[in-house]
Amino acid sequence: MTRAAEDTFQDIRDAVRALCADFPAEYHRKVDEARGYPEDFVAALTKAGWMAALIPEAYGGSGLGLTEASVIMEEINRAGGNSGACHGQMYNMNTLIRHGSEAQRRFYLPKIASGELRLQSMAVTEPTTGTDTTKIKTTAVKRGDRYVINGQKVFISRIQHSDLMILLARTTPLAEVKKKSEGLSIFLVDVKEAMKSGMVIRPILNMVNHETNEVFFDELEIPADNLIGEEGQGFKYILTGLNAERTLIAAECIGDGYWFTDKVTQYAKERVVFGRPIGQNQGVQFPIAEAFIEIEAANLMRYEACRRYDAGLDCGAQANMAKYLAAKASWEAANACIQFHGGFGFACEYDVERKFRETRLYQVAPISTNLILSYVAEHILGLPRSF
Ligand SMILES: Cc1cc2nc3c(=O)[nH]c(=O)nc-3n(C[C@H](O)[C@H](O)[C@H](O)COP(=O)(O)OP(=O)(O)OC[C@H]3O[C@@H](n4cnc5c(N)ncnc54)[C@H](O)[C@@H]3O)c2cc1C
Repeated sequence: MTRAAEDTFQDIRDAVRALCADFPAEYHRKVDEARGYPEDFVAALTKAGWMAALIPEAYGGSGLGLTEASVIMEEINRAGGNSGACHGQMYNMNTLIRHGSEAQRRFYLPKIASGELRLQSMAVTEPTTGTDTTKIKTTAVKRGDRYVINGQKVFISRIQHSDLMILLARTTPLAEVKKKSEGLSIFLVDVKEAMKSGMVIRPILNMVNHETNEVFFDELEIPADNLIGEEGQGFKYILTGLNAERTLIAAECIGDGYWFTDKVTQYAKERVVFGRPIGQNQGVQFPIAEAFIEIEAANLMRYEACRRYDAGLDCGAQANMAKYLAAKASWEAANACIQFHGGFGFACEYDVERKFRETRLYQVAPISTNLILSYVAEHILGLPRSF
């Protein structure tokens, strides 16, 4: 059977699959049950160089494109794992690669590539502003050779497993800028240093085993050199990074989608009820076939987003549409998978309920479905702005 996913980068797929085989579904199930962090798995991915795929060779990485990076993420999810524990490392460093100074790149990237430093966390979302990012209230005020940070973030993932975090804060008050997207800046925060004075982390227990947190800043001082790029341009930098993030998440959803369709297809062939395999009933076949068709279609958009990104072309539309299609397809596949496992779909040992919970997140984070529809309506179709 031909699948778009299997026609490409077979060498990378084989190598990542071989690594993932050492961390089978049972490993991820146990980590999930313990609400732990897949430390060994992330360390193995880092040691093998997969987490440094996007870092140029000159800085110790493998200098691969977003297409290859997306294949790595897809394979992790397809093997029964969850890239959510480590995908931040892949796309957050991209912000540094694209917008950091040469001194920052030379200092941080080789250490990130070797695994000495983890840059897994990015703090954008705030409790009172939600998706309306330009209204964020966290401020960074320059005082001499320092910036002083005050404010609060919410749902900030993997900070407990990061050495560095990218922070979005307002450096010029909203009332003083011509465009609301101006006056925002991004910074590198040394997590351990910040925790000594000025930054407090409070974990948020949530539906998936995803390490995410509230983060509070009270007069946190960071060196002015930790500003990434130009002051006031941070929103633009974050947006370019988000296209890579959305495309990688699309690939993870596609990995999930194939995991669900493979799992349920196998089960439907074996499970005999009323004297025949349940998969012989068209009422069972059609939702699985429908989900598979949608995964394949989403996959084509994912590769188009990757192609445009790697060619240096604008890929905002394709990245958003790929994320939308892939998250929808993986969710449909998850529903078919849990439904046709009957009661066993709810038993943890089948891994279906865990993957079901994990893939549900992508309807909301890192961007909700409605906001993608709004982007397409207004930015692609030119309909009047609603906000
Ligand atoms: C597990 C997890 C991990 C996360 N990790 C991170 C992280 O590492 N860093 C980070 O910065 N953020 C992170 N987030 C935050 C995530 O990006 C946001 O939750 C998400 O973007 C939605 O924002 P919100 O929760 O504020 O929802 P809101 O903006 O409050 O929106 C609530 C709902 O209303 C809908 N809505 C809002 N406005 C409109 C409109 N105009 N039209 C139609 N519908 C609308 C939205 O689509 C959404 O469904 C994470 C979230 C979760 C759950």
